[in-house]
Amino acid sequence: MRGQDKNILAHPPHIFGMSPKYRCSVCGSPHVMAKIGGNYYCFKCGSKIVIEHARRVIEIYKATVVPQGKT
Ligand SMILES: [Zn+2]
Repeated sequence: MRGQDKNILAHPPHIFGMSPKYRCSVCGSPHVMAKIGGNYYCFKCGSKIVIEHARRVIEIYKATVVPQGKT
């Protein structure tokens, strides 16, 4: 057997396609998926931020909009 082919597999390309210099600002994960407010977030933390933000917007919306249709 010729051992040269093994060296190709020893250095796999970045499967996530993202530069490792960007890290999640919450957990430090290099698997950054989103940039929110100038900070980078991985998928897990990013979705949490988005959900929290959406929840806050909904709360503000509920507080400012007077519910109609009630007697
Ligand atoms: Zn994270």
